[in-house]
Amino acid sequence: MSEASAASAGVAEQLAAGRADVARACRVLAAEGLVSDILGHVSLRVDGRRMLIRARSASDPGLLLTRPEDVVLTDFDGEPAEELGDRQLPQELPIHGELLRLRPGDGAVVHAHPPDVVLCSVAGLPLRPVFGAFNIPAMRMAERGLPVFDYYGLVRTRERGEQMVAAMAGTRAVLLRGHGLTTAAPTLAGAVVAALNVNLLARMTAALAAAGCSAPEVPDADRAELPDLGGAFNDDLVWRHHVAKLAWRGLGLDAAEG
Ligand SMILES: [Zn+2]
Repeated sequence: MSEASAASAGVAEQLAAGRADVARACRVLAAEGLVSDILGHVSLRVDGRRMLIRARSASDPGLLLTRPEDVVLTDFDGEPAEELGDRQLPQELPIHGELLRLRPGDGAVVHAHPPDVVLCSVAGLPLRPVFGAFNIPAMRMAERGLPVFDYYGLVRTRERGEQMVAAMAGTRAVLLRGHGLTTAAPTLAGAVVAALNVNLLARMTAALAAAGCSAPEVPDADRAELPDLGGAFNDDLVWRHHVAKLAWRGLGLDAAEG
């Protein structure tokens, strides 16, 4: 094999692995209740101008059954870099395109519509640090504060995407009022786990509000003693668990990924 064809075989392999990972991320989000049916998408940076993103075919069965062939290569403006066939790019592609364009350190983006996140955003319930060792990264996210993008509509234009990215400054996650959430991180595992953690915070916050409770925040002294266990533990290990759980649930879809 020539050097050029070996290089292109390497790129093809990398793209295939990326499609499989984006598809797995979509199935994890759906299996964990962050996506109820067909709405939501995940993207993965390929380089400085292109990404792999979950598209939708005419016979789309929803995110829970996403396969690698549902993931397509496009640039950040939504110009496809391959034949799409009957697959359509998401209307909210600028969420992904603008985040990856404006935050070069981030490699993956998640957008989902978790009901508890929507509930907290419309009820004006802030996601406060009310638990500690139960989930330290989620507590830290709440401690730093989770911004709310104050716009109820679809993020369909570059301008809206830029506004959302601005609202998200300095954080991995933003709540979209009456809509859902967006997360971005250097790795796909990081973006997925950030979304799972925001969802957990919202679920706790909504349950406390429904019970009429006002939980105190974790005391400063206790917060100071909670360790940072690192990305390999906080993100990668959790991601591997969820990928394994997909197979256990019969959602590995390995035949299609082989
Ligand atoms: Zn949306």
